[in-house]
Amino acid sequence: MSFVPIEDLRKGDGSSSHQRLPPWFKVRLQQGPDYRDIRQVVDDLGLHTICEEARCPNIWECWNNRTATFLILGDICTRRCHYCSVTTGKPLAVDHDEPLRVAQAVQAMRLKHAVITSVNRDELDDGGASVFTETIRQIRRLNPACTVEVLIPDFEGSESALQTVTAERPEILNHNIETVERLFPDIRPQGKYQRSIELLGRAKHMGMTTKSGLIIGMGETADETRQVMQDLRAAKCDILTIGQYLQPTRQHLPVARFYHPDEFAAFKAEGLALGFSHVEASPLARSSYHAEQQVMP
Ligand code: SF4
Repeated sequence: MSFVPIEDLRKGDGSSSHQRLPPWFKVRLQQGPDYRDIRQVVDDLGLHTICEEARCPNIWECWNNRTATFLILGDICTRRCHYCSVTTGKPLAVDHDEPLRVAQAVQAMRLKHAVITSVNRDELDDGGASVFTETIRQIRRLNPACTVEVLIPDFEGSESALQTVTAERPEILNHNIETVERLFPDIRPQGKYQRSIELLGRAKHMGMTTKSGLIIGMGETADETRQVMQDLRAAKCDILTIGQYLQPTRQHLPVARFYHPDEFAAFKAEGLALGFSHVEASPLARSSYHAEQQVMP
């Protein structure tokens, strides 16, 4: 087992970012038996994970701890966000067996808390909401004690799509705001800041425990980040994650600024002071990082 800088892990991958990373970016490189077991389960069941699609730097830690985030509705997204490495294009037909296979993976991995996310499927009438609900149902059918967190797209603001998901009462309803309002048109061109804030507010109104996440270092100011935190709290969002943006490949938005771990600690303190029940803020924090620790008792 060894600790290595993330950029060393990317050497040899011609598509990877060439940006130098600050010294605090070190991850534990270890493909232990649990990592290999997760790899086997995911491959055998023909599933996708956002851990891989998003080139998440925590994959060694999470998979060694038997945690993974499933990516449903395929691995091709109808939107193109400039920081995201998920493939954009015309998605394949919906795979109606996928919810059962996700539930079987949750069972095989013995998860206590399952996190489910999806690509955007704007071409579907319900944006894929019914597949989220079927996935929740199948997980609960095979894993009655498992809590479920769904990290949903904005469903283009559809009230009925949101209701379809919230009707299944997932323990956590997560929707990532990702960045500040000013940067949305440039880097999340098919998203809308206010639409996402409103979605979180409506989910809270429907009785959900809500959660959202930001990745910083894409050109925002600290005050703009604080404004997002205030807007999320105005929508009564419960849980917040803040992590450092890392350029996934040379074709993606370069990092504008690396924040020091002390700055993340300061954001965390500010978030807690604003009233979030839980704030996960650190350079390597991601939306689903340590998610199992955020479930309400
Ligand atoms: S932080 Fe989330 S996306 Fe990253 S490896 Fe862990 S579970 Fe997967």
